[in-house]
Amino acid sequence: MAELPAAAERATSLESLAAAAHVCTACRLAETRTTVVFGAGNPNADVMFVGEGPGQQEDEQGLPFVGRSGQLLEQLLGEIGLARKDVYIGNVVKCRPPQNRDPRPDEIEACKGYLRTQLTLIQPMVVVTLGNFASKLLLRTDTGITRLRGTAYEWWGRFLVPTFHPAAALRGNPRVLADMRDDLQTVQAIIEGKLQRRPPEPDGDEDLATAEPDPEQLDLFSN
Ligand code: URA
Repeated sequence: MAELPAAAERATSLESLAAAAHVCTACRLAETRTTVVFGAGNPNADVMFVGEGPGQQEDEQGLPFVGRSGQLLEQLLGEIGLARKDVYIGNVVKCRPPQNRDPRPDEIEACKGYLRTQLTLIQPMVVVTLGNFASKLLLRTDTGITRLRGTAYEWWGRFLVPTFHPAAALRGNPRVLADMRDDLQTVQAIIEGKLQRRPPEPDGDEDLATAEPDPEQLDLFSN
């Protein structure tokens, strides 16, 4: 196996990081992927969305959130005056897990250098985790998204706003969509400088709230 995640940690630009990702064979997902879905958007974005991992359409097109979930995300962004080109959209793992199963711990471990370096390079003001998987992982908690959401957490010197995955809203529960709208209002307040209070830390994890805001040191989601 190539040692490409180490190269990912050293990348000095999103382009060189993407180049490393596109030839990555650090985990088994390389064997079944069609295309690496590195992430896309504004490299200087204030807002970075983090999903779980590419689905079938993303795997085919090489871009994150291009299916119906992506369309809904774009609609919700529009409602707070943002377009896809204004934000950065990425995923916890950059290659599609077969049958859209959850990424496994060794796959997450192999891929986390890419997300860490994306965060280091982009320096978003707020990270928005989409869905249970990404939210629990980045906040290092077993608490589910229904209880986690509704709060802006302090996370490695920036805000993290967990919200539902757009796919959950597409299943038709109007409450989920309304909650996502509320969460994006929180994002808007943060980027407009209206939310400056020190946000609460996630349950049972003091390290995240008190950590120095040095993304180079991010231990993201290891235990
Ligand atoms: N779901 C995700 O979590 N990420 C994508 O890129 C697409 C769908």
